[in-house]
Formats: sequence, structure tokens, C-alpha cells
Amino acid sequence: MSSFKDLFDTYHWEDVKASIYSKTETDVLKALHASKRDLEDFKALISPAAAPFLEEMAQLSQQLSQKRFGRTIQLYVPLYLSNECNNICTYCGFSFDNKVRRKTLTEKEILQEVESIKKMGYDHVLLVTGEANQTVHVDYFKKAMELVNPHFANVSIEVQPLEQEEYEALIPRGLHAVLVYQETYHRQDYKMHHPKGKKSNFDYRLETPDRLGKAGIHKMGLGVLIGLEDWRTDSFFTALHLSYLEKTYWQSKYSISFPRLRPFSGGLEPKVAMNDRELVQLICAYRIFNEEVELSISTRESELFRNNIIKLGITSMSAGSKTNPGGYAVEPEALEQFEISDERSPEAIALLIKSQGYEPVWKDWDSILNSKVNY
Ligand code: SF4
Repeated sequence: MSSFKDLFDTYHWEDVKASIYSKTETDVLKALHASKRDLEDFKALISPAAAPFLEEMAQLSQQLSQKRFGRTIQLYVPLYLSNECNNICTYCGFSFDNKVRRKTLTEKEILQEVESIKKMGYDHVLLVTGEANQTVHVDYFKKAMELVNPHFANVSIEVQPLEQEEYEALIPRGLHAVLVYQETYHRQDYKMHHPKGKKSNFDYRLETPDRLGKAGIHKMGLGVLIGLEDWRTDSFFTALHLSYLEKTYWQSKYSISFPRLRPFSGGLEPKVAMNDRELVQLICAYRIFNEEVELSISTRESELFRNNIIKLGITSMSAGSKTNPGGYAVEPEALEQFEISDERSPEAIALLIKSQGYEPVWKDWDSILNSKVNY
């Protein structure tokens, strides 16, 4: 099998959806008490039939997370380098057809932003851009990596999908992880939400994690934008993708994020709403299904939700985030990609984590594990 697409094409959205919605209490109990779990168990755990078992799922998720990750929550912050974008995406403030002022940080401005982020205490940064190949291209990323990498233990990126050789050029410059969300695995809806630009190529995006795996990336992050389509079916395909990647590129590590559609200037209403209980169910289902995968929650979520999710299986959180280029130091008032929901400072989030008996970690897990090995 040469890529995930070959496996993906053997599935039909409506069949998967029907199968999830037909799961019963018996299937859920089997999934909860299995010693080893498969994708059918995952379907049961995300199904409506699992809703009454939320407390049991939360306890199991907490127990499995503590066993693998201890009582720790890793903190990271996004650094937006550019809001230029050639794509039209119906749900994003940076969309090409959104008439806003565009900005790409210069080298000097990148360093100004780095200085502000370092003062916040961070050692793990996520570089984010829109998809504008003329201005924000691989050479720009190389330069940005060279500027940023000396200041952080870990540098991740969330930018346009690249070619394998392009990832291979960035890895030696300190690239640690790449986040690339499929947005939705529903082919027709994907087309509707991405009508123009390179991102409208569903298959190219779908095969990006394969290119990352072949390039030998240390870690990759998967996910969908919750609200575009039925979240249960989209999450099944994410779990299928994760399972395929873990088997095929076993040297890489994986993380999952759960972005729910947020308001932005000119915004789209979610087609399918997901309430807080359902998001907890999904997070716990991922943890019970896969004990190794890192689970991340961003400042898109509310204070109340983030206060309560810490013990339930999450392993990393962002805090103090700005979603506009220059947001920390250069130009704090520019247009955001989406509205932040939890606006508390990194110190406040660190205190919250401590108050729940957990340790906030400002570096990536791997540097901590490596430093232990070196002692
Ligand atoms: S989601 Fe990404 S590609 Fe789409 S408009 Fe926003 S920045 Fe551009």
C-alpha cells in the first residue's frame, strides 16, 4: 500500500456513519473492558450509545493518561508568521476572499515576537502561516527556522502541505513536528469548503502525513475541524488515519487536536454542532483507543471547559495565544484568524494546572525524556 489514500478509498462515508450510529450498549461495554481495542471499539466509544458511560470513560481515560504521561500538561504557544493566503476556505478569517490587510513578518519582526514569547516562559513554539506560496515558501520557512530554532527546545509548524524533500530540508534546521489537519474527510463537503487554491486538492492534503512519514519527521499532528461535518464519522477517519500511520511510520509520534469551529470576521456557522459533553466523550474515546497518542486542546475552547478537561486525558494545551502575525509584540491589533475563547495568561494556566495536582511542562515531552536518558 503506497499511501493512506488506497486504504481510505475502500471506505464509504455513509456506511461508516451508519455503523457508528448502530453501535449498542453491549458494544460500548465490550470496548470499555477490552484488553486491546480496535477501530470497531473506537466507533462504539464515539457513538451515541456511549453517552451514558461518560463517567466510566472519563475515569479510564484519566487512568490511562496518568500511566503513560504522568501528571503533566505540556504548554505551547503559536507564533503566527503570516496571514497571507491564496486559498478560499469558508471557515477562516485569513481566506483569500476576506478583504483584510495582509502581513508577513520580516526577520527583525520574527525576532521581536520570539523575545516576547520567551518572556512568557515558553520553550515550545508552533510557527503558523496561511498558504501563500509566493511569499511564505520553503525558503521563508528555512530562514524562520534558523532564526527561531536557537531560542526554543522544540519548533513545530502548521503551514501549507509540502513535498517530502521540502520537509527533509527543514528537519535538519530543527523542525520537530508538523500539524496538518484534513479539516474533513468528507470528500464532497471538503470541496465545498475549499473551492479555490491549492488546498482544494483533497488527495494532496490526505497524503501529506505519508510524505511526512517518508521524510522521517519526529512527530505529526492530525485532526479535523469539528463542525464542518458529522464529528463522529470524521473522527473515525482520523482514527483510521492515525492507525495506518502508526503502523506504516512507526518511528514517528502522533498527536490529535480537536478544533471546534470558532467565530471569525465574516464567519461560518457550524453545520453540525458538538456540545461540551460530546467533546469530552471524543477526547476520552481517543485515549481509551490509543494510549500513546498526545491529545491537545487550544485556546479556542472556553475557560470553563479547559478547567475541567485537564485530568481527563489531555496532554498539551496552548495558553496566552495570539492568532495574528505580530500579535505578541509587533502589531497586537491586527486581524485574528479566529477569536480566542480562553484569554488567560500562561502564568494563570500554569497555576490552574498546578491547582489540579498536575505539573505544567514548558518543553516537549521528548526533550525531557532525552535529558533523563543523558543523566
Ligand atoms: S485555513 Fe489555512 S489555507 Fe484556509 S484560508 Fe485559512 S490560512 Fe488559508
